[in-house]
Amino acid sequence: MSKINVLFFISNEDSLQFKLDNITNESLIIYFQLLSIFADINEEKKLIELNALHKATEELKDSMKQFVDKYKGEDPRFNKLTSFFRDLNDDEWFYVLPRNDLGLKKSFYIQESLNLLDKGYIFDEVKKILEEKEAKFNNTFSNVLKDYHIIPIPCEKKIYIGENNKKKRVCRFCKKSKEDGATFKHIAHAIPEALGNKNIINNEECDECNSKFEKMIERDLINYLNIYRVFWGIKGKNGVPKIKFKDDKLIDYQNDIFYIQDTVDNDSQEPIDFPNNIKLEPYYSINMMDVYRCFCKISLSVIDKKFIKYFNETIKWINKNKSLSNNYKLPKIAMLLNPQNFNEQPNITLYIRKSDNTCYPLLVSELRIYTFIFVYIVPFSSKDNREFIEEEYQDFWSKFEHYHGAGNWNFKNFSSDIDQDFIINLKLDKKE
Ligand SMILES: [Zn+2]
Repeated sequence: MSKINVLFFISNEDSLQFKLDNITNESLIIYFQLLSIFADINEEKKLIELNALHKATEELKDSMKQFVDKYKGEDPRFNKLTSFFRDLNDDEWFYVLPRNDLGLKKSFYIQESLNLLDKGYIFDEVKKILEEKEAKFNNTFSNVLKDYHIIPIPCEKKIYIGENNKKKRVCRFCKKSKEDGATFKHIAHAIPEALGNKNIINNEECDECNSKFEKMIERDLINYLNIYRVFWGIKGKNGVPKIKFKDDKLIDYQNDIFYIQDTVDNDSQEPIDFPNNIKLEPYYSINMMDVYRCFCKISLSVIDKKFIKYFNETIKWINKNKSLSNNYKLPKIAMLLNPQNFNEQPNITLYIRKSDNTCYPLLVSELRIYTFIFVYIVPFSSKDNREFIEEEYQDFWSKFEHYHGAGNWNFKNFSSDIDQDFIINLKLDKKE
């Protein structure tokens, strides 16, 4: 019994963690009641067998409702169970697990099986399909897993990275604590909020760094993706932006539709020919190296803090305190536009090298924003002795072979450290 003190509910759309922390005799009895809905309990042998997979039958929903009605006064957290079960369709499958640190493979298995069960596959078919998929997964990732830990940062629910206690916090980027005068009043989003991130929060970024980064590097990344923010209708703090371009062009998002307007000659009644290409010239300029800096700042915001000591030079560079030669070349960034896969919230996966093989960088990140996938090396780590350009970049990319079949990757240069005009060429297809 003492071993099961977390219940983790997962459905196709939702997840809910229920943790038993202040254990008293009373709470234990209540918890036991909850457990008995999902487990076979053999009181003689003192055995509890928790069944992982369940169907939200009318009967089960009823038992849950009775349980919550009876005990919600004891622990208001039980109310969350009500909404979890209310949102389940009749007879929808879901999991109840005694832990939530599932790892990439297990999470994948669980999500896939719920997907398939939801589509009407029977259990034996699901098992067979997943065995095949698992073999494929192992095969696909086997090369990278030899040298890397893969760490997906969950983004479905609020996650706070680093020290919770404000008095004990040390800023990852300036190393200041409360004693040194740092404050931590503002919420620091690990990925800019304007790009749709609501959930991934970095506890260890002080207010001063937070406002500095916002102006210095985050603005560049946001501007770089600005048009896509409008295109997908992504709401930031002030809603979906409207962007004015030179030549009186305006892009806007209203009632779920993306507009490009030519604000000149609006009175003309003549039908105009729909152009195939539209050139949009924003009023802002972009520093591409700042976009790269911002990517790396995101990675260092979510990585376990024990690794930060290997990135002192990287942090200097992010802060623009590292001197580089004028034509210094950073590793390229691999970019893929994958319209089939839209991410409601930006999310990030870290690859942290576990081996001593310095042919490969210590930290690589995969950042997904809207329909983009960016894969980039975090440069200047003290555990690296390569710069990962040209052949060295090829060595790295060949290691990450699970990406190779994903589509047409673009390898872009973000080494320019000056503000530049940023022209967007939109190609439009006419629908017949
Ligand atoms: Zn700071």
